[in-house]
Amino acid sequence: MATCTATGVAELDACAVHPLGSKARVLLSSVFGPYAQDDQYGSRSINPMELYHNQVTRVQGAFSLRMFHRSWGLMLLQANMDAPCRCLDFPTLDRFIEEIRRNRYDVVGIGAIIPNILKVRKMCELVRRYQPAATIVVGGHVAGVPDLQERVDADHVVRGDGVRWFRRFLGQAEDEPIRHPIIWSGFGRRTMGVNLPFRRRFTAATLLPSVGCPIGCDFCATSAMFGGKGRFVNFYETGDELFDVMCRLEKAMGVQSFFVMDENFLLHRRRALRLLELMEEHGKPWALYVFSSANALRSYTMEQLVALGVSWVWMGLEGKDSRYGKLHNTDTHRLVRRLQSHGIRVLGSSIIGLDEHTPENIDEAIDYAVSHSTEFHQFMLYTPSPGTPLYARLDSQGALLGTDEISEADVHGQYRFAHRHPHIPRGEETELLLRAFRRDLEVNGPSILRVVATTVAGWKRYKDHPNRRIAARFAWEVADVAAGSLGGVWAGRRLLRADSRLAARLDAVLRDAYAQFGLKARLLAPIVGRFLLWSARREAKRLARGWTYEPPTFYESNVELDLHTDAPGPKPKLCRFVEPTAGRSRTAASPQRSGALAR
Ligand code: SF4
Repeated sequence: MATCTATGVAELDACAVHPLGSKARVLLSSVFGPYAQDDQYGSRSINPMELYHNQVTRVQGAFSLRMFHRSWGLMLLQANMDAPCRCLDFPTLDRFIEEIRRNRYDVVGIGAIIPNILKVRKMCELVRRYQPAATIVVGGHVAGVPDLQERVDADHVVRGDGVRWFRRFLGQAEDEPIRHPIIWSGFGRRTMGVNLPFRRRFTAATLLPSVGCPIGCDFCATSAMFGGKGRFVNFYETGDELFDVMCRLEKAMGVQSFFVMDENFLLHRRRALRLLELMEEHGKPWALYVFSSANALRSYTMEQLVALGVSWVWMGLEGKDSRYGKLHNTDTHRLVRRLQSHGIRVLGSSIIGLDEHTPENIDEAIDYAVSHSTEFHQFMLYTPSPGTPLYARLDSQGALLGTDEISEADVHGQYRFAHRHPHIPRGEETELLLRAFRRDLEVNGPSILRVVATTVAGWKRYKDHPNRRIAARFAWEVADVAAGSLGGVWAGRRLLRADSRLAARLDAVLRDAYAQFGLKARLLAPIVGRFLLWSARREAKRLARGWTYEPPTFYESNVELDLHTDAPGPKPKLCRFVEPTAGRSRTAASPQRSGALAR
């Protein structure tokens, strides 16, 4: 067993080079499902494989936004391997067993988060049984568990940049330009009981510019995984490189929008502003959905954000009087209102269980978060993940709970603390967290309806903008409103009629939209709305009966030839990626260079 520690880049121990090099046959797999159930392997019904329903809209019933996201890390690894590689995403246990019984592999890579440690252990056992000659590599957040090597039977535990690690392990040049996988931002989207149709023009491409974040907030597992404070890994160093790959994705996928999966995209200011120049020069009316800290956002003018196509932002609000440097001197209420007035939808993220929270002041903390009226609000328990400064502090204070006190499967931020809180008695945090979600719903209404008001506000402001590129982007943003989204508001107005304040708010949204979109909207909203009213009621009943969602299994290969199959069975699809322009190199583990922004 070798553990390859990382400070932004996974360091490779000298012996960790596979003898077959790029001829090694590789299987990459995510952990097995089903996920939204309670079982002995650590699946939990409150921890489904759904980003939004898991931690953002979980109490919003039929209005909850249901959607799955692929295991982007595995897809990135596969696209950047010369070795023949298959990727099995969201297998069942039986499907995983079938795969390793039927095919010969030299390397099996498993990616997981910490709550799935028991699944990783089980999968390692199965690989040893069916593929005794295979090298087992484990990566992802689970690699941060300090004693992982004692708990799972893996040959290598890779922390940090797995692309670089695998390239070296398989005899490739590790500095080759990154090939970007083709990844749709989400799939299986559903709300109000309706499966939302897949339309490429309105579905975003996932874009992976960098990983990690140099700000290094004490609780941030992703920042810690790629080196922590002051460090990150750039896959695309310059605005030119990023623009190049975005053009290629646009062409290959027919998209107009990008879900920018970068922990703090706007912090890389020089790259973002160069991207803006190129978008302007080439007339790209793209929309970007980004993650950004408040201090990074504030370093741009609103004109720059709008011209860059920032359409949706996920921002950490953390907590009232937060000590986090990224929030110093920021009036987050004002910032959110300003963004919304320019049509930028906001997902605010708040922490329940900061050290200063008590049963007496938690309602004030929740009201503070809710008063931002963001379109979406994530609430997470203050959770020490291994590798983070928070984990180190609580460990030194002897405050961490042992695995005999809490199962790792329950440490996902939506159920229980993993430490003894200074003020909140053990077990009370679950209700406090739910209280926050419920209060947000009660005050602000269903998220998917909040989005409509901000989208219309943006369109009103920019529909006649002299820059045609900007006006075109807002026209694209609003294209669905008159046809479909207003029907959701119409139905929501009826479902929520008992709440006169929310009903009045939705009435105002409808009046405003009718005034903007005229007869078409007036006619369509009640027609679509009646159907959604019926389907949302039916959905509510299904959910009350315990209905859950599971993602399908994906099976993809990076080579067309079936190189290593022993028996007939499912054929993998060919994975797709875009090549970068030749001659450009990647940068790994760049020291942060954003000066005043990173604290
Ligand atoms: S700013 Fe956000 S992404 Fe960066 S370290 Fe803090 S929580 Fe993590």
